[in-house]
Amino acid sequence: YLAKEGRTGVEIYQPDKDRNSPERLTLLGDLRRALDGRELCLHYQPKVALACDAGAAGGAGGAVYGVEALLRWRHPIHGAIGPSDFIPLAEQSYLMRQLTAYVIDEALEQAARWWHTGLRVQISVNISARDLLGHALPEQLEAGLARLRLPPSAIQLEVTERILTGEQAYTQETIKALAALGVPLALDDFGTGYSSLIRLQRLAVSEVKIDASFVRRMADSADDERIVRSIVDLVRSLGLRSVAEGVESEAVALRLAEIGCDLGQGWLFCEPMPAADATAWLRERLAAVQELGHGLRPEMT
Ligand code: C2E
Ligand code: MG
Ligand code: MG
Ligand code: MG
Repeated sequence: YLAKEGRTGVEIYQPDKDRNSPERLTLLGDLRRALDGRELCLHYQPKVALACDAGAAGGAGGAVYGVEALLRWRHPIHGAIGPSDFIPLAEQSYLMRQLTAYVIDEALEQAARWWHTGLRVQISVNISARDLLGHALPEQLEAGLARLRLPPSAIQLEVTERILTGEQAYTQETIKALAALGVPLALDDFGTGYSSLIRLQRLAVSEVKIDASFVRRMADSADDERIVRSIVDLVRSLGLRSVAEGVESEAVALRLAEIGCDLGQGWLFCEPMPAADATAWLRERLAAVQELGHGLRPEMT
């Protein structure tokens, strides 16, 4: 087993990269068990306005426009395993759909706890290609939103370019069902896929998340800054919201604000937090929490 030093100093377990290694198969079995147990949970990371006014781009960030739900697994033996180490594994099996069903349920429950106590914060959930097969996902969302008396904009789904631009008819059909429900979509990791900027226009998304790889390099690479600028300009011209992922420094937050990027997400503002901490963080900034109309770009001031 490979272990590396995590950012917080905790050991992060990384399963062997070999697809059929016994370690991976064991891990898949463990994940199946984790779904029934209490080993999984969601952490939440805020997305904040980058607007230049009133020091909004500083460490605290400006208005809060939502949070991204990120799956966490505390393995009884290996400790914390990051999603990048088990999601790709789960995506190769039917387990992914069960994982997503769990994540959607958790996110809906959390959204209800927040919305019904005055914190109208949108929760974004990452989904995988397999989740768009059939109508299970829109049906789960429709039932959950109705049961919990939540508007469709309480949830947003993050999909990657690769998934959204897939030619499969089933993908397009499910996307349509989600649009009919009114649940907004965000395009995740933008810039890493192979869809052209122009195709953006034809995708039914409300938000474009610029991949952290460009954002992080912006500070010292003029090329990367130009890429981010052109994405932000295009996203804006299409009337969509731009979000920079992986904002780690003040310098980058300031450049992003100058470029006109709407929102930022990253360690500079806040790391992903357990639900209780996220609730406290949001409560403290209640006045700054902005409700997003579904499918609409927030009014930037
Ligand atoms: P993502 O959707 O692009 O999520 C953003 C990732 O960036 C998260 O990694 C987050 O913790 C990390 N991050 C946030 N701020 C910073 C920063 O300032 N610097 C850096 N370097 N990283 C930052 P995480 O939580 O490890 O998740 C990795 C990926 O795993 C996610 O990328 C997403 O693709 C996938 N994932 C996470 N949770 C789920 C889930 O519930 N379902 C699915 N299908 N995929 C998930
Ligand atoms: Mg995401
Ligand atoms: Mg992303
Ligand atoms: Mg990513």
